Amino acid sequence: MSRTVIVGGGVIGLSLAWELACRNEQSNGDQEIVLIDNSSLAGRASWAGAGILLPTNLQTAIHPIDQLEGLSNQLHETWSQRLKSETGVENGFRKCGGLYLARTVGEIALLAGTLEHWRQREIDFEAVANDQLGKRFPAFKDLSYGSDRLKAVFVPGEYQFRNPDHLKALIAACEKRGVKFHDCAETTELEVQQNRIVAVKSKSQTWETDQVCLTAGPWTAELCASIGFELPMQPVKGHMVLYKLDRQEFLPVVNEGSRYLVPREDGHVLAGSTIQESDFDDSIDPNEINGLKAWARSVLPELDESKVADCWTGLRPGTFDGFPYMGRIPDMQNLFVSTGHFKAGLQLSPACAVVMADLIEGKQPKVDLSPFSVSRVNDAFYSRSTLNK
Ligand SMILES: Cc1cc2nc3c(=O)[nH]c(=O)nc-3n(C[C@H](O)[C@H](O)[C@H](O)COP(=O)(O)OP(=O)(O)OC[C@H]3O[C@@H](n4cnc5c(N)ncnc54)[C@H](O)[C@@H]3O)c2cc1C
Repeated sequence: MSRTVIVGGGVIGLSLAWELACRNEQSNGDQEIVLIDNSSLAGRASWAGAGILLPTNLQTAIHPIDQLEGLSNQLHETWSQRLKSETGVENGFRKCGGLYLARTVGEIALLAGTLEHWRQREIDFEAVANDQLGKRFPAFKDLSYGSDRLKAVFVPGEYQFRNPDHLKALIAACEKRGVKFHDCAETTELEVQQNRIVAVKSKSQTWETDQVCLTAGPWTAELCASIGFELPMQPVKGHMVLYKLDRQEFLPVVNEGSRYLVPREDGHVLAGSTIQESDFDDSIDPNEINGLKAWARSVLPELDESKVADCWTGLRPGTFDGFPYMGRIPDMQNLFVSTGHFKAGLQLSPACAVVMADLIEGKQPKVDLSPFSVSRVNDAFYSRSTLNK
């Protein structure tokens, strides 16, 4: 029997555990998959996120990040069906479309860039005239800027899923396939012998191991530092406000600049998000919440204080160049990382699980992972002083 230890039970670690467990079962293998988390599983950014899956087109994807996105959107559909049939948990995967708004000069310029990107990638979209917006989407009939500066574009290929339900399904599916979970077990040491990790240790337990993958979100940097490898990461805090409406009208996701509304089928509406570099401080800032609430009301006036159900924050795993780190740690034969997916970890999670499982099994992944290599931190243009000061 060989053992793979995954450190970090967010969406990246859980998806990898499920992918490895499925492959092991299909090949009648004797692989044991152990997943360790320092708190409750799936309780951090993966739970806090919005579950928006941005539009993409695998056919026109050239850069590996676009290929991962395109592959992920395909896999989300099949994974959602498989997870439902294996566990009975419905993760809310829906093609809801996205409405993109711009009400300031800056937002209009940003939207123009997005539209050009969609044109090049052959992603369908349509402009919605101001006098048509309320007819197409009655909930937004009062949305205006008091002038004709409002620009609205509808993109049909945007999806959403309910990430807390997706995570529940992944946990149940992993359990069914024999993944061994250890929660509330902080990984405190990676024991190295001759360029290999031979054991992963918490304060009270030791797991001997054949290979290790670190999927601990922004905390992955600490684990790498413990074996002398510097992986520059930046936790980036995002706030969320959850509303509950009495009616159950299913609307598209609304995006404006970095903010969005995600209407769920049961009348819940999520308003997000903020972007603050945070040093692992995940406390709620009332000013940020008030800013989000004011924006949410400017889009959908019925989202008043009486409809607020909850507020929270999450820490996105940021990297110095916006790309994830995915690959093997140099000079370590059996230590891999998959982290730094920043604002897109929920979307990228299934494709990342597939390519990381290939790497761990010694196969050639179908997407070129060289842009995500951890060695790129030594590139000449990058100054180590910019992160992890
Ligand atoms: C407000 C917000 C909105 C977002 N919206 C979206 C969205 O709409 N679409 C999208 O695609 N992405 C979105 N994201 C980004 C997405 O949530 C993240 O990219 C993704 O969740 C990262 O997953 P992860 O598994 O790497 O990290 P995490 O979910 O942070 O999981 C890491 C796990 O590692 C554990 N851990 C840490 N240290 C240790 C240790 N020493 N030992 C053991 N375990 C450890 C932690 O407890 C945690 O459970 C959003 C994020 C936020 C915060």
